[in-house]
Amino acid sequence: LRVLAIEGTAWAASAAVFETSDPTRPDDERVEIYTDAYEPDSGGIHPREAAEHMHETIPEVVANARETAREWADESGGVDADSHDGDARQPSDDDRRSREASPIDAVAFSRGPGLGPCLRIVGTAARATAQRFGVPLVGVNHMVAHLEIGRHRSGFDSPVCLNASGANAHILGYRNGRYRVLGETMDTGVGNAIDKFTRHLGWSHPGGPKVEQRARDGEFVDLPYVVKGMDFSFSGIMSAAKQAVDDGEAVEDVCFGLQEHIFAMLTEVSERALSLTGSGQLVLGGGVAQNDRLREMLREMCDQRGADFYAPEPRFLRDNAGMIAVLGAKMYEAGDTISIEDSAIDSNFRPDQVPVTWREADDW
Ligand code: ATP
Repeated sequence: LRVLAIEGTAWAASAAVFETSDPTRPDDERVEIYTDAYEPDSGGIHPREAAEHMHETIPEVVANARETAREWADESGGVDADSHDGDARQPSDDDRRSREASPIDAVAFSRGPGLGPCLRIVGTAARATAQRFGVPLVGVNHMVAHLEIGRHRSGFDSPVCLNASGANAHILGYRNGRYRVLGETMDTGVGNAIDKFTRHLGWSHPGGPKVEQRARDGEFVDLPYVVKGMDFSFSGIMSAAKQAVDDGEAVEDVCFGLQEHIFAMLTEVSERALSLTGSGQLVLGGGVAQNDRLREMLREMCDQRGADFYAPEPRFLRDNAGMIAVLGAKMYEAGDTISIEDSAIDSNFRPDQVPVTWREADDW
């Protein structure tokens, strides 16, 4: 099984190829990811500039992924152009006659959530690629992909999932055929909150790695800590952090205090979710999960409870088409494909809107 995937919800114009003989097992697979990152000259991510970046770079990353798919197909003896003839969603006979032999079985793409102008370009590229090869299209929820890659690579059965990404922050648990949002940010995503603080300092985007770096030399400062049940909020702490710097606190100390507070909030809700669900497994996903201190705090909490903790390697944490390909393959195997007509993007696509077709419906 070989799936080509395209991602482009915000900053990463990315395409990947995933190949496996069994999509439920990570020990027999390969994934190649090609990413061209949008880096704003100043300020944060501007939707129009991000869309222009997608427009300019998606063709090239997709071409790279196509080439890799072709090489892998050649290694394994190639794919017959008519191997998908039984699928009712395939193009007409005329289309089929003119299309080239397909090195892939399906095209997966991120349907949302994300920036509408970027998603539309990705959707168009995915539809065109699927039609070119006459293979089915799979519409993937980007947030579910952020957490499924952790479940897939860890082999965990039913973990609690913490999504710590740029535009989002959720704590999720699987129950009765869906990922349920147990808690989430009441305002901005966790990475976006950190980036807003660093914009105030005049630092370039993304701010997260710079805060991590500066926090290494810092000491604790007190900032607002807001957790309500399993929801949490970052807007108060951001304003207070900006104010603290304006009032003359050392930047290193504010960075340190910021990380300690924000990551403690995420760790507290993760522990509460583990306790509520009775799950003994936690997986972490999203770009902020590249932060060593966040992973350290979560691992320590899990050790203290006797729970297992897993964070995928960095290339699967930040936005990337690899995670879209892996989940796309599972959905394809489950028959969860969509027609071109039904493949409109959804910039507010929530993870709990997705029927989880690729695993058995069971309880915690
Ligand atoms: P989403 O996946 O919700 O659409 P997104 O597209 O913005 O969000 P991600 O790639 O998941 O993106 O995450 C990007 C975010 O990760 C940025 O806000 C960036 O500052 C943050 N980030 C990257 N590295 C680190 C780090 N080492 N520490 C903290 N934050 C980081």
